[in-house]
Amino acid sequence: PIQPKERLDAVDSVCPYCGVGCALTYYVDRSRGAIAYAEGRDQPGSQSRLCVKGRYGWDYAASPQRLTTPLIRVDAAYPKGPLSADVRGDMAKDGGRRKGKGKGRRPGGLVDYDEVMPHFREATWEEALDLVARRLKEIHAKGGPGAIAGFGSAKCSNEEAYLFQKLIRTGFGTNNVDHCTRLCHASSVAALFEGVGSGAVSTTYGDVANAEVVIITGSNPTANHPVASSFFKQARRRGTKIVYVDPRASTVAEHADYHCQVKPGTDVAFYNAIMHEVIRLGLIDREFIAARVSNYDELARTVAEYPPERAAQITGVDADLIREVARVWGEAGSGVIYWGMGISQHTTGTDNARCLIALCSITGNVGRPGTGLHPLRGQNNVQGASDAGLIPMFYPDYQGVDRDGTRERFERAWGTKLDPNRGLTVTEIIGSVLKPGGVRGMYMLGENPFLSDPNINKVRKALSQLDFLVVQDIFLTETAEFADVVLPASSYLEKDGSYTNTDRRVQLGRKVLDPPGQARVDWEIVQDIARRVGLDWNYSGPSEVFDEMVALMPSYANLRHENLGLTGKLYPNADPEHSDGTVVLFDERFNTDDGLAHLVPAQWLPAKELPDAEYPLVLNTGRLLEHWHTGSMTRRSYALDTISPEAEVYMHPKDAADRGLAHGELVQARSRRGAIRLRVRISHREQLGNCFIPFHFREAAANLLTIDEIDPYGKIPEFKFCAIQVESLGAA
Ligand code: SF4
Repeated sequence: PIQPKERLDAVDSVCPYCGVGCALTYYVDRSRGAIAYAEGRDQPGSQSRLCVKGRYGWDYAASPQRLTTPLIRVDAAYPKGPLSADVRGDMAKDGGRRKGKGKGRRPGGLVDYDEVMPHFREATWEEALDLVARRLKEIHAKGGPGAIAGFGSAKCSNEEAYLFQKLIRTGFGTNNVDHCTRLCHASSVAALFEGVGSGAVSTTYGDVANAEVVIITGSNPTANHPVASSFFKQARRRGTKIVYVDPRASTVAEHADYHCQVKPGTDVAFYNAIMHEVIRLGLIDREFIAARVSNYDELARTVAEYPPERAAQITGVDADLIREVARVWGEAGSGVIYWGMGISQHTTGTDNARCLIALCSITGNVGRPGTGLHPLRGQNNVQGASDAGLIPMFYPDYQGVDRDGTRERFERAWGTKLDPNRGLTVTEIIGSVLKPGGVRGMYMLGENPFLSDPNINKVRKALSQLDFLVVQDIFLTETAEFADVVLPASSYLEKDGSYTNTDRRVQLGRKVLDPPGQARVDWEIVQDIARRVGLDWNYSGPSEVFDEMVALMPSYANLRHENLGLTGKLYPNADPEHSDGTVVLFDERFNTDDGLAHLVPAQWLPAKELPDAEYPLVLNTGRLLEHWHTGSMTRRSYALDTISPEAEVYMHPKDAADRGLAHGELVQARSRRGAIRLRVRISHREQLGNCFIPFHFREAAANLLTIDEIDPYGKIPEFKFCAIQVESLGAA
């Protein structure tokens, strides 16, 4: 029974799932040591709202499958990695539900502990940490700095991200440190840096209320940023026009004034045609272009090649609709573009984002209320982890590792020589393991590339071939099954730290529960490894780490744990004691060296793997409302996994009918890289010829199918486009 509210302990924190970062309060029953329920809390960006994940998705922390003691691999002969048929892609014909009697099994099932655990033994922290430090040092001594790499996590706090990148850079002398931004918005960040000199949003999602028109593109915010989506829908009721540009007819399409259902991978052609029309109609902002923009003439020459009729052939969007949307955008006094991974997760992801930057810039839609550029960041702290330097080309605050003056400043601050070369990205690190002289030892903090990275048969090969892998996590994830040492870490609910949301709002997450068993908080584990590899670290807690980090980050200047308060603060912030911070950036100049927006024209290029007779359908992968990324948390949340227990392939009714497939039928989806079995969901939201599969499910791992081709600038994989076939099991 739930105790009355007054007998519960209220802890104010932040939701651990998406980049919206809703403020919430956990009500804790201390007599049971358990959360009773969660409630939304007032904060400018969430206004007491929560989606189903924030409200119900916290019981994962009490799962009996939590790691509670360090583990060391004992059976060297036992092949590394998940051996279950499901993640080999030849799952038994049991409808996708795993069977077995593994400890802690839940509906939908996850790790079969009975199969995996005999190949590890429990260890003391001393033994496990000594082994980690010794093996990483040996590999470093033998192979040099380039033999070591670290994957940090956008689920960890700013302080943990800062310490992790500092450990890899100062303890091992390499910039081979990255995290899941590489799978998310790295191409957006590359384009934003080049275009406006900053990787963060130029305005908040709440600023939608001040916009006459907004473009929401390559995003399904109802599922992926639900509370932000409620702000969009509310703004429309008050008069903001919504243009929705997406291959899928997600629920936002029902709230939009215009839905441009582009064919997948044709965004550059679409936005070039919009700019073509804006210029032809004379709706550009000549004053803004003259004063604040460079390279306009070259952009105009490029988009002149994309009249609406040509774009209509490429994108499938009617030429008259393209003209109408261009007119609406060009005539509006203010407009914001919000975008998601439908823009970024392409081999043309950087070009896609360049077009959005150019469209805002030539119409003067930057630097005023109700205008701007907003890539909707995915994880709760992907903005903060990137800000804190968890990327191979930048120190904290996007200060280039290959810039001489910058590097020397960090060398002085950290008291050691630093690698002058950019490090490898997530996708490059996986490739490097398979090459002679590449990465041989890895430290994986809270990432699960075995499910999250493209073409996971290649990931399997790479992780299996590492000389040493240490995984620090809260569950024995699919990636942890490859580990030599597993370190039991703390969940979000078991530690203090700061997190930065998609709006640039830095908020405090507060400890709610104690970690189970011998599990420890992440920053302490990182510090213990740092000491063992010879670094003199003596941090007393997250607040001290935050102060050191902020001293190196001009954007975060003036912020301290003490002045973040209950609602956090936006950065930049000249006076956090009295101000919530800056909503709109670039009112006078951009962050580029010359203060101008740099327009970079792009030509449309097709995706890398087009459909053909053998693989005639296009696969789009993404997320569901109820689940989060590789499902390690949400699939262990009873409510969320019960609502959405298994993977489905979403298909247009005609594509299903052409194959004789019925709704709910178990089918095989296959690409050139692998095959999975899952059920069909016939969906009017899909375009003819296109399918959607969520990537949360180990039993039907969508990334067995995806292609590992990457964008040349952001190095992000093409998760949104590869060729597949879907067929009945009779035909398979
Ligand atoms: Fe959590 Fe995002 Fe839902 Fe808010 S919208 S409750 S941050 S998952």
